[in-house]
Amino acid sequence: MVMDLNKCIGCQTCTIACKRLWTRDEGMDYQWWNTVNTMPGRGTPRDWEQMGGGFQDGKARPGKLPSRRDFGEAWEFNHEEVFHGGKGDSVHLQVKGEEPDWGPNWDEDQGAGEYPNAYYFYLPRICNHCTHPACLEACPRKAIEKRQEDGVVLINEDRCRGYRFCMEACPYKKIYFNHAEKVSQKCIFCFPRIEQGVANACARQCPGRVRFVGYRDDEEGPIWKLVDKWKAALPLHPEYGTDPNVFYVPPLAPPRFDEKGDVDESKPRIPDEYLVSLFGPKVLDVLALMKSEMAKTRAGEKSELMDLLIAYRWKDMFGGFDRDPATIEWVKS
Ligand code: SF4
Ligand code: SF4
Repeated sequence: MVMDLNKCIGCQTCTIACKRLWTRDEGMDYQWWNTVNTMPGRGTPRDWEQMGGGFQDGKARPGKLPSRRDFGEAWEFNHEEVFHGGKGDSVHLQVKGEEPDWGPNWDEDQGAGEYPNAYYFYLPRICNHCTHPACLEACPRKAIEKRQEDGVVLINEDRCRGYRFCMEACPYKKIYFNHAEKVSQKCIFCFPRIEQGVANACARQCPGRVRFVGYRDDEEGPIWKLVDKWKAALPLHPEYGTDPNVFYVPPLAPPRFDEKGDVDESKPRIPDEYLVSLFGPKVLDVLALMKSEMAKTRAGEKSELMDLLIAYRWKDMFGGFDRDPATIEWVKS
């Protein structure tokens, strides 16, 4: 998958599409396989980038087990009292029980920088279905498989014994523990849809046309063109050593203003160092490429890269996975 961060509006439609489809059973209420966080920010789970995991120089790097509180609990609200309690304006919606101190989108729109040069952008995340999955290597039960046919990384819940070594090992902290079922669970890349030629729910529902789907080696598809041909999309934290298969087109930003309020093009609004810390040094080449391709289109020339990113035809984003799910008779097992 490729996600264009210049088009994400942080609406969470992807998050809800995933939630409705996959994480409504018991024990899954605090699970958000798809998250969208404001960056710079502490993310979901809180401070996940400091929790370790993955590989360093080919060797497994120790990782921390994120707690349920780090992810954020599924809070219960006093709906009954507000809507049916007959108390009128004297009550308002409040969390029942312990006061929460973190949640999946807690620091929304806070970002960084000082007025008038504040900045932020949204970072949607799913399991990266890595080529070298740290979760798979860490599982002593061999309960995690990377499928030969499509590269999807899946947890076999019949084999899982809930040891949670996978949660410690995943440097992206994209695995949840189901306390009711006592198994680890995570994004399944909508494999039952993919098998039927239907794009992932998060991608199909995205109103921003942010998400491209397809096989990396399909030279007619958008992933190969964006990642390999144009080299315009990069993995998040490549230094974690898992070879992620979700790639990001990095965010451009409006220009800065100087003390007099004039446009100051001498340095970018989003500091280069910050983007390099997320996507590695190649991010600077991608930003330069995007700017030069944008300049071409402004001068009336054609740019295949800009055309791809604009995604004039919605279905072209899905690399052949463009079947309408309404045409399928889904069988619930
Ligand atoms: S992102 Fe984490 S859970 Fe997903 S395949 Fe990679 S290591 Fe495993
Ligand atoms: S649905 Fe699309 S635009 Fe909305 S938050 Fe998700 S990726 Fe961003």
